[in-house]
Amino acid sequence: METEKEDNLRFVIIGAGMAGILSAIKLEEAGLHNVTLYEKAERLGGTWRENTYPGIACDVPSHLYSYSFAPNPEWSHQYSPGVEIQRYFEDVASQFGIGDRIRFGEEIERCEFVDSRWKLRTRAGRRDEADFIIAATGVLHHPNNPEIEGLEDFDGALFHSARWDHDVPLDGKKIGVIGTGSTGVQITSALADRAQKFSLFQRTAQWVMPQENPAYSEAEKKEFREHPEQLRILHQAISKLFAASFANAIVDADSDLMKEIEAQCLLNLEQSVSDPGLRERLRPNYRAACKRLVISPDFYEAIQKPRVELVTDGIRSVEPGGVRTVDGGFHELDVLVMATGFRADRFMRPMEIIGRTGKRLDEVWADRPSAYLSISIPDLPNFFMLNGPNGPVGNFSLIEVAELQFKYILQLVDQVRAGECRSLSASDVATQVFDRERVEAAKKTIWSTGCRSWYLDDRGIPATWPWTFDRFREAMSEPDLAAYDFFFT
Ligand code: NAP
Repeated sequence: METEKEDNLRFVIIGAGMAGILSAIKLEEAGLHNVTLYEKAERLGGTWRENTYPGIACDVPSHLYSYSFAPNPEWSHQYSPGVEIQRYFEDVASQFGIGDRIRFGEEIERCEFVDSRWKLRTRAGRRDEADFIIAATGVLHHPNNPEIEGLEDFDGALFHSARWDHDVPLDGKKIGVIGTGSTGVQITSALADRAQKFSLFQRTAQWVMPQENPAYSEAEKKEFREHPEQLRILHQAISKLFAASFANAIVDADSDLMKEIEAQCLLNLEQSVSDPGLRERLRPNYRAACKRLVISPDFYEAIQKPRVELVTDGIRSVEPGGVRTVDGGFHELDVLVMATGFRADRFMRPMEIIGRTGKRLDEVWADRPSAYLSISIPDLPNFFMLNGPNGPVGNFSLIEVAELQFKYILQLVDQVRAGECRSLSASDVATQVFDRERVEAAKKTIWSTGCRSWYLDDRGIPATWPWTFDRFREAMSEPDLAAYDFFFT
């Protein structure tokens, strides 16, 4: 039975994006009301607040990329645009009444585990304490800004795709985009008709899976509104289908389905790009889905438009008026966008995190980030991550991932509530065994088949969940408490 103290366990959630909002709602539901959510920005939404580039949408079906407990009959499309997703998170936060838990504009700078509690400090110097920390700080949020000679001399507007400057006019301008990941491709489709000239700088060609994006009719939305149970069934059906198909295929590079996916992408390239020279420049020389599969119904159409050019000569330097390529060619530009991705190994950092032995997270992660089941780090008691290192991050619904992880975390919290310990964290041994098995299993995955991507760690080993999604679901269903160190003081 819970005592008054146990009921009053204090939680700090860091980050008011998808996972932080989820945590606040689920803690409340579990009867844990002493919760503060710190958010460094002035608005919630995480990725969807930060990424506002033209064409942004989620390539996970909207009815799957929704909380299971908050289905949304209003999604406009099968794959809805970013602005709708941002609104969805704002609506859910308000519907579940968690707004007053959030401290906006307060960035946690330091967390130290002292005397069985976490002592926190914000950048502004505010101090707080907590029994538990939920790090919901996201994966892809530190822009990767490559050093290119002369970048600082560029006279036009220059920004990263995740820092879009909406004051910069685009219509009739000469726009350059560096990078052909999911972001660069979406921007290309959105701006191909608006620019006077659009230059896409491609270092590596991408496999592109064609995917139509039908709008939901008013009749369909009305049906969803009147029969919300249909949305739940739809959510479960897409999730099941996904787990049984794509999720299984990517962890088995030799699977028939993986070959089928590649064949579909190849057919898309052959049928959609008419100019043989352009087609060859767009043809990847590695396996489909080795990099994150790009999903687009119209990228090939956009890249063939008269005002669009695909630049495959390497970038030599940026000059005040544009980009110089290694062949000596010059591409005049008014706007240059770095769609160059993110530093995927940062997670909660630059926060300073000091565990029970006095060791800093930066030391623990000196080689690379790792965590037991992507959730817990040895000697960081009662500190749990959502979408931490080595989790399922490839073309999955991270909402579903976070929901499963949170259910697991709540069971760890229950150990403390039940008085089984004061705090707990994964043991060193369990973490090492998990890492060893993960690295071994990663060899079979599609990410290991020879390409460069943000999935790979500094050794070139995929830093992702290398097993099936069903195995992840199973691992999250109940913690193996033998894998945890229990602390009593
Ligand atoms: P990304 O997939 O990491 O792609 C970065 C691009 O920049 C690559 O084409 C890369 O080329 C290029 N690049 C990096 N440094 C460069 C340099 N110095 N010179 C030239 N090119 C350079 O980044 P992203 O497109 O922002 O996507 C990141 C992830 O965000 C995605 O994988 C996905 O998980 C997520 N995302 C999802 C959606 C969605 O619809 N759900 C949309 C956007 C993003 P190389 O390939 O040669 O390295």
